[in-house]
Amino acid sequence: MGTSSLQNIFDTHNHSQFSFDGKRTTVEQSASSAKGKGLAGICFTDHCDFFVPPMKAAYEHLVPETFDVEAQQEEIRRTGDKIGNQGFRILKGVEIGLQKKCRDSIRDFLSGNSFDQVIASVHYLDDTDPFYGGYYEGKDWKTAYGHYLETIYEEMTWLGDFDIMGHFDYVARYAPYPQASILYKDFSDILDALLKYLAENGKALEINTKTYQDYHGRTPVLDINILKRFREYGGEAVTLGSDSHDPGRVGDKFSLYSETVRSAGFGYLAHFEGRSLCMDRIG
Ligand SMILES: [Zn+2]
Ligand SMILES: [Zn+2]
Repeated sequence: MGTSSLQNIFDTHNHSQFSFDGKRTTVEQSASSAKGKGLAGICFTDHCDFFVPPMKAAYEHLVPETFDVEAQQEEIRRTGDKIGNQGFRILKGVEIGLQKKCRDSIRDFLSGNSFDQVIASVHYLDDTDPFYGGYYEGKDWKTAYGHYLETIYEEMTWLGDFDIMGHFDYVARYAPYPQASILYKDFSDILDALLKYLAENGKALEINTKTYQDYHGRTPVLDINILKRFREYGGEAVTLGSDSHDPGRVGDKFSLYSETVRSAGFGYLAHFEGRSLCMDRIG
């Protein structure tokens, strides 16, 4: 099997200058990159986290409570008018950070704004930030990964109002353990619960290709058994997201992972427009 064509595929997870950590790109630069790489479209999903753990206090000035939604959407419209003709789509989204203590703010934010697509992700838990390490102290890999997955389940099923479960394996990226991957066999109970919920509620499972790269000498892998299990539960919607913060990573490894999705039994990838599921045949 050769490489898949990207012509029907959307990159559904990208950050722009409207994310606190998105200063290495702009909507226009990343959209141009997506178009240049032959993708069908790109969705900008800037960060919205309502609480940042104290250990990241030195960076707090970079983290607004939320991003300027109006400015982001205006810039997406402007860029669409400039380069989005001839079928290329530029979509407006958000990556909402799930946290129990922020539930009210999250609900208000989502009901007060309209997006093409909402990704629900866990970035902070137990008032710690896995990116800066504190989360892993005193935990073995199985406890650390399992608790992260359980937290996704708890907050995602509470929210309901979202389209895509973001990076279920985020917690493995920055972990200090030699065990770098979340494998189905190690977490079958909680993964079953997550996948069943997504399948039964028409939500998408995200393959976040930012996870599958080198992190201080270890490279997490995607376990295809997770995709196969999702299929067994009747799951249909799988999205590819690069989680890019710069134009170069837009669509990163999409040929490889669209083949993985196909070999797990899916004929389509997915994206969302106006919060409705759209299916894109794998070329
Ligand atoms: Zn994220
Ligand atoms: Zn992201």
